[in-house]
Amino acid sequence: MRTGIIFKLVMLQSLAVSCLGQDFDFFYFVLQWPGAYCDSRQSCCYPKTGKPSSDFSIHGLWPNYNDGSYPSNCDPDSQFHKSEVEDLLNKMAEKWPSLACPSSDGVRFWEHEWVKHGTCSESELDQHDYFDAALKLKDKANLLQFLKSAGINPDDGFYSLKEIKNAIEEGTGFSPGIECNKDPSRNSQLYQIYLCVDTSATTFIECPILPQGRCAPEIQFPKF
Ligand code: AMP
Ligand code: AMP
Repeated sequence: MRTGIIFKLVMLQSLAVSCLGQDFDFFYFVLQWPGAYCDSRQSCCYPKTGKPSSDFSIHGLWPNYNDGSYPSNCDPDSQFHKSEVEDLLNKMAEKWPSLACPSSDGVRFWEHEWVKHGTCSESELDQHDYFDAALKLKDKANLLQFLKSAGINPDDGFYSLKEIKNAIEEGTGFSPGIECNKDPSRNSQLYQIYLCVDTSATTFIECPILPQGRCAPEIQFPKF
């Protein structure tokens, strides 16, 4: 009798997951160097609260498949509700700032990230837990400190891609994906760092697959 009920519950749960199509293999936790975002667009707009600190900021926490593809926009019925993350808003403004123009308070950026990516991990994390998990991961991975310890500073200097990867691997224990973009003089520069995280969004893991980074062997680390 009991096993019958448990069996039904398990079936119901897997049915719910497959109906919502929210299965995925791991997360990319993507951190961004704000100086490179601003350089590549030759413009960006600081949040209404002022210039973000000179540190990596969060771009997103993206559910991914092991083959490199990814789900997106998984639940049209789930909108971003500021009220669900009220207690996190100060930290989000600090660590997950929007640099898009015109100046904003970040809500549009968070809304975009929730709707496109967050809704695809709803089987694991509700909206509050999703944003909370990203903030906690940011605290765990102090990338700027790892780079500085290796003598790699945001000073417009050029550093070898290998040196950058090694410094982050040394600090986090896992080898990262590095994405570059171009500054106005067409220099390849450090734009985003991809770390991989397990499906509970708490533990860094070795990346099952890394994104194409489009980096030159020597890349610029722009000032911000
Ligand atoms: P987004 O913030 O989702 O608009 O994504 C920014 C860029 O990252 C997009 O242009 C995509 O090409 C890429 N991207 C977004 N999600 C993923 C993902 N899960 N895996 C790999 N690349 C992604
Ligand atoms: P990209 O990675 O340049 O393909 O950007 C993908 C999308 O995310 C674009 O719509 C960007 O404008 C947006 N985006 C990326 N980083 C930020 C940021 N720091 N603030 C606001 N929007 C961003």
